[in-house]
Amino acid sequence: MQHVTLNNGVEMPILGFGVYQIPPEETERAVSEALAAGYRLLDTAAAYGNEEAVGRAVRSSGIPREDLFVTTKLWVQDAPAQENARRAFETSLAKLGLDHVDLYLMHQPYGDVYGQWRAMEDLNREGLAKAIGVANFYPDRLIDLILNNEITPAVNQIETHPFFQRAADQDLMRERGVQIQSWGGFAEGKNNLFTDPLLSGIGAEHGKSVAQVVLRWLVQRGVVAIPKSVRAERMAENIDVFDFELTGDQMAAITTLDTGSSLFFDHRDPAMVDWLGKRRVDA
Ligand code: NAP
Repeated sequence: MQHVTLNNGVEMPILGFGVYQIPPEETERAVSEALAAGYRLLDTAAAYGNEEAVGRAVRSSGIPREDLFVTTKLWVQDAPAQENARRAFETSLAKLGLDHVDLYLMHQPYGDVYGQWRAMEDLNREGLAKAIGVANFYPDRLIDLILNNEITPAVNQIETHPFFQRAADQDLMRERGVQIQSWGGFAEGKNNLFTDPLLSGIGAEHGKSVAQVVLRWLVQRGVVAIPKSVRAERMAENIDVFDFELTGDQMAAITTLDTGSSLFFDHRDPAMVDWLGKRRVDA
């Protein structure tokens, strides 16, 4: 497994396993299968409702804790944000049954992000979160957060897939020392991604599936990917992307699929800010 080195020296696997939309009752089995398939990076969130099941799978795996990289995420907090963020973190840690996480992400760029970030900075200094970062931050908000705080986010986890490639955002993050991580790397199958003619053709040239081409393309760009699947055969397929390389022409051809906009929703859309920003997750 390849790794990336985050801005504070922490090593992060470039490919991991995401558990969004895996029901809690299915999550322990799925994560156990993913760990058996070789995944060492797990991506969950308080908002996914499956941290306990992730923790059970981790603890029963027998894999040394230092070989695993566990990410969870802070949901938008009511005031006082700093106090509530710490409480939310402690709840997540207790649900996971761990004594630290490797990466703690602010899930949404909403609410008192500065109060939330200060709590996260403290958790990082105390070693409870080995790295801290954000998700769904567009460059304007990211720069402002960097300028007005001590610790620069190690990671920004954003929608990144062949139809929304984020190359300019990646350049900006690279300049600022922020690692890009893709969510929805397959666009959850939207736009018929898995039967896309261009991606299928490239796959045929390597004897690889569309899913493998997409993950290889992310890895070659230096983007950390966390595909989700509840099926063991797909978990194995999705991690099997380190034995081939896309050519420069193939990488260039894939850029033509970029639409430059989200296939899900824009985090700057007022209706979405209103809906997501008011949603609360039971801590
Ligand atoms: P995704 O990984 O783009 O797509 C998952 C879908 O692809 C599932 O329907 C899965 O079906 C299918 N699939 C997986 N492997 C496949 C393969 N080899 N061939 C064909 N189909 C395949 O979607 P995602 O789960 O939304 O994103 C990945 C992770 O990013 C999440 O799990 C979560 O950890 C994170 N995320 C973060 C945010 C955020 O706001 N920070 C938002 C969304 C997601 P099966 O399960 O049936 O195989």
